[in-house]
Amino acid sequence: MPFGHDMVHSLATVVDLVNTSPSTGGEDTLTDLEQLGAFVERQEVSGVETLDETDLTQVRALREAFHKVFTAPDQATAVIRLNTLLSSTRITPRLTEHDGHPLHVHYFAPGASLHEHLAADLGVALAHLLVEGEWGRLRTCSAPDCGHVFVDESRNRSRVYCDSRTCGNRMHVAAYRARRRA
Ligand SMILES: [Zn+2]
Ligand SMILES: [Zn+2]
Repeated sequence: MPFGHDMVHSLATVVDLVNTSPSTGGEDTLTDLEQLGAFVERQEVSGVETLDETDLTQVRALREAFHKVFTAPDQATAVIRLNTLLSSTRITPRLTEHDGHPLHVHYFAPGASLHEHLAADLGVALAHLLVEGEWGRLRTCSAPDCGHVFVDESRNRSRVYCDSRTCGNRMHVAAYRARRRA
């Protein structure tokens, strides 16, 4: 499935956002404005003004709403959850060129807060994924002690771990040891 650059970027951003949540099994890594600023920087979220505690509270709530889309038991539920998220967001498509990126569409309204910006852009990206029949690519890591989410972009939809170097490698070592003990 060839994802365009915008899509790849939005999906990476939503995965990163959701995985800051302790709901995914790790530490909460979005607890203060410094961490929120670091997230904005590493995902190159454009046009962000000064952030305050309201932004933090709203983005923390948004990551849980996105997590529920990833963990929906079936596509119909994912659609309902994503529609709920989208319906509470102002969405205004706008063609833009900035920071050397080619012409692309932003979905957040002018003057949008950070959470509206993220809800619109990331929500629309997930909507397109669902429309393409790719809901099954929204996954949760199979390692028993890890709940991180990821988007399986592999051709044969075979990816099961959030990160092959960490969880994948850890699980292979564990399986190898288990075989040796048997
Ligand atoms: Zn942009
Ligand atoms: Zn994992």
